[in-house]
Amino acid sequence: MRKQIAAANWKMNLTIDKAEALLNEILQADASLAENRQAIFAVPFPYLIKASELLNGKNNYSISAQNCSNKKSGAYTGEVSVEMLKSINISYCIVGHSERREYYGETNQILKEKVDLCLEQGITPIFCCGEALEIREKSGQNGFVRGQLEDSLFHLSADQLRSIIIAYEPIWAIGTGKTASTEQAQQMHEFIRSVLAEKWGADVAQDITILYGGSVKASNAKELFSCPDVDGGLVGGASLIAPEFVEIIKALKH
Ligand code: PEP
Repeated sequence: MRKQIAAANWKMNLTIDKAEALLNEILQADASLAENRQAIFAVPFPYLIKASELLNGKNNYSISAQNCSNKKSGAYTGEVSVEMLKSINISYCIVGHSERREYYGETNQILKEKVDLCLEQGITPIFCCGEALEIREKSGQNGFVRGQLEDSLFHLSADQLRSIIIAYEPIWAIGTGKTASTEQAQQMHEFIRSVLAEKWGADVAQDITILYGGSVKASNAKELFSCPDVDGGLVGGASLIAPEFVEIIKALKH
């Protein structure tokens, strides 16, 4: 069975003391995770090493970066390379969050480069896709998301694709308190899986974890995760509240 994942995206929140307290509180709740379930914490760059230490080898808990450079190394002031992430044993990196696409002009081509660098270093990209409200209002979401997948992922081999996690995050649901209905989430996840199946075959498509992101909270996680093609969530706001995120972890399918 493919992996079921609760991924926390802390974004640009928390100072180190608060970050440490939050992570400790979640770890102490000890939501024990069976073999196929995983909790991932995408923390700000300065906290990656400390957060990894706090996990202290706890089974099925991992730390992720929220972003990486599309350049390998060199004179790119302020950037963080995938090689640097690898050198501190980070195994996941969010790529193409809509906030990066929107505020920092990250294009599908740039994201393709980031995906390639992550795969080269054995880091699993958590590749985000999803449409804005105007696109959904015109029923253009399927074509739009297909375009994002085609432009940034279609050059990969089946084996490379198996090393990727996809997160469907409708922009209109991110940080807005407006969650996609279970029908909307399931329809899009099924569509994404059908696109993967067309390109790489049904067996490969069945193995890919597809997360839903957009105002997931303790109160709606179980319902969303019960959709057959929703394999967990990428969680922003609710991941900053320990009891909320613990419940979200517990809501993962068994
Ligand atoms: C996100 O940042 O990826 C996200 C889904 O945020 P929120 O859960 O706050 O909507």
